[in-house]
Amino acid sequence: VKKKAGKYEKLARPVEQTAVLGAGIMGGGIAYQSASKGTPILMKDIKSDAIELGLKEARKLFGKQVERKKFTVEEMAQKLTNIRPTLSYGDFENVDLVVEAVVENPKVKAGVLAEVEKSVGENTILTSNTSTISINRLAQSLERPQNFCGMHFFNPVHRMPLVEVIRGEKTSDEAVAATVAYARAMGKTPIVVNDCPGFLVNRVLFPYFGGFSFLVEQGADFQRVDKVMEKFGWPMGPAYLLDVVGMDTAVHANEVMAEGFPERMAREGKTAIQVMYENDRLGQKNAKGFYAYE
Ligand code: NAD
Repeated sequence: VKKKAGKYEKLARPVEQTAVLGAGIMGGGIAYQSASKGTPILMKDIKSDAIELGLKEARKLFGKQVERKKFTVEEMAQKLTNIRPTLSYGDFENVDLVVEAVVENPKVKAGVLAEVEKSVGENTILTSNTSTISINRLAQSLERPQNFCGMHFFNPVHRMPLVEVIRGEKTSDEAVAATVAYARAMGKTPIVVNDCPGFLVNRVLFPYFGGFSFLVEQGADFQRVDKVMEKFGWPMGPAYLLDVVGMDTAVHANEVMAEGFPERMAREGKTAIQVMYENDRLGQKNAKGFYAYE
């Protein structure tokens, strides 16, 4: 895997200034990871309370590193200045690479990407952290699709080493190279994958969530399923993982997968995950999902 991403190394332009769009679970995590490894990042959202939450999350993660003696308090304060919260595209002109991490909705993402493209330089690389939406589909909203690819992190960003770098039909080698280089600078392991709904990991993960949903609908106790999957050797079971991912994100991502692979992913009626979502049991983000959180 490393070898494959390695072929792009020579083409990488420096990535010194970055930005993330969306200060949610993923945007906050991406901002923390970039800042902690020393790459400055603008964190943009449309809501100031979302920015506050993103910053709170980053501060919490830095605090844990101080407790573990990985950083001193002074280092933490210095690294925190790498995150610059904003509600506008004012400072985007000199950004080398943008990670879009807004809600998993193709229309919203297409609108946000078209909007940010107008505020950045000609050579700025635009990436999307979409879980499932095809990069070729999102590229249609852009005037410079050659500068665009997927940069798919996993949750929680600070703990998950893998980053899928998704190459669209029009993506240039330079865009892939810069994205691979930035992922490495963030301490991650990038893999370059081709474009399709769900890419690589979510084509495996979402059928698994679907299988779990069937079990629950047929009367299985979700806590027992989680325990069994832990004994099977996975770090957490599917119910807990869905709480981490967020039921809203899981439902929206599954819709994209069902559209892309109707014969395998589309289902009649509501899934247990949809029922959870409709009952506002979103998971850890609102402290109630399959489990309750403080
Ligand atoms: P989230 O709901 O926690 O955060 C989304 C944020 O986007 C919110 O703060 C919202 O205010 C903001 N936003 C909405 N419209 C915006 C706009 N026009 N400009 C700027 N900000 C805007 O969602 P999340 O879980 O962080 O997911 C974000 C993206 O990352 C989605 O595409 C999701 O599929 C993907 N992703 C999620 C996970 C996961 O486990 N949650 C994992 C990998 C990838």
